[in-house]
Amino acid sequence: MKTVSLEQEINPWEAQAARFDLAAKKLNLDEGLWKVLRYPNREVIVHIPVQMDDGSIEVFTGFRVQHSIARGPAKGGIRYAPDVTLDEVRALASWMTWKCAVVNIPFGGAKGGVICDPRKMSKGELERMTRRYTAELVEFIGPEKDVPAPDMNTNEQVMAWMMDTFSMHMRQTVTAVVTGKPLSMGGSKGRREATGRGIMIICDEALKHLGMNREDTRVIIQGFGNVGSNAAHLMHQAGYKVIGIGEVGGGLYNPAGIDIEALWDYAGKHRTIHGFNGAEVRDTAELLVTDCDLLIPAATENQITSRNADRIKAKIIVEGANGPTTATADDILADKKVFIVPDILANAGGVTASYFEWVQDRQGYFWKESVVNEQLEHIMRESFADVVSYAQAHDVNNRIAAYMLAIDRVASTIRQRGIYA
Ligand code: NAD
Repeated sequence: MKTVSLEQEINPWEAQAARFDLAAKKLNLDEGLWKVLRYPNREVIVHIPVQMDDGSIEVFTGFRVQHSIARGPAKGGIRYAPDVTLDEVRALASWMTWKCAVVNIPFGGAKGGVICDPRKMSKGELERMTRRYTAELVEFIGPEKDVPAPDMNTNEQVMAWMMDTFSMHMRQTVTAVVTGKPLSMGGSKGRREATGRGIMIICDEALKHLGMNREDTRVIIQGFGNVGSNAAHLMHQAGYKVIGIGEVGGGLYNPAGIDIEALWDYAGKHRTIHGFNGAEVRDTAELLVTDCDLLIPAATENQITSRNADRIKAKIIVEGANGPTTATADDILADKKVFIVPDILANAGGVTASYFEWVQDRQGYFWKESVVNEQLEHIMRESFADVVSYAQAHDVNNRIAAYMLAIDRVASTIRQRGIYA
């Protein structure tokens, strides 16, 4: 095992590059394409002046990184957080390229972020920052160029502001410029739940593959945001036993199973899971290493590292978040024979439904929710089968198989297109 410092281990760009290099080597990717695909196409940095509610002016730094447009317009979310870095956005952008290729949808990869603390900003400040950020990116985004979506701390409202700002600049309504919009302005039915639904479909496939069943599967989920709460809700309804939910500031644990329906109502009313009395309070970090069958990290990066991987008890890890497991932790988990479904497959339900939203916006014809869910299920099941059979055929783990499959698809498109001179 290669020794790396903790700082290097938890740098998402290094984490991405470590897996990319390994997969590219296994594929015998030629050196030229290796160089093309290892680095992003374009990185935009903007400094956004925003008038705050008290009349002062604040300047926020924002990023948009487009990793690849080889297979179609760049696609990827926008994250608002105080600790967003360019390296993180770069990693997330390249993961989007690989994710779209794994599920075989016609997009490249991008990601955006603004360094800010949305919890300390008013709605008006968030709106002005979002609009100015969008205006700064107006020449780089668009339905045929780069299509943003929500990510951590951004939501349907933020997408509505982005769509409106872009449309004002274009002098026409352009719904397909972003996905994850409200239903009333070109959003897709089923999009809000799609990442969680995709995770459940992948969990079902993993259980089938390993000869397990839902009712005997004890699940711990980290994160109760868009991804975690929808996964928990759908999986509870489907018969899984959710025994733990980890959140910032403490988690919930009930070995007999948490009543997620009741927690869902509680969180809807109180905007937090804290104070829910159907489970005992348990430290979030402790929950990651608590005995369970299936662990779903659905919060943020670097949750499973060299510091806790050897204490993980789960037999299966399905990565709801992007980059929750470091490359060093991968090696430790491989020794423990944990079945990992990597982020670029496991959480691809979100971008798949975003693709459906983009198609519907461009068609001007909107699908029934059952059609969205059916198409999503078809793509997720097929992609799981593709990755698992690729892993078996090449004698690699699921993560490296997913990277190899994706890199192979993107590289063959670039080979056919050729390098424009
Ligand atoms: P979100 O902001 O809706 O929710 C994140 C949740 O995680 C919040 O409840 C937050 O309190 C919690 N959290 C953050 N840090 C935590 C920590 N250290 N420990 C415990 N809980 C923590 O974000 P989301 O959209 O649910 O995204 C979660 C992850 O899934 C991110 O990695 C994101 O990139 C990824 N993802 C999201 C989508 C999507 O459609 N929203 C799609 C694919 C991947």
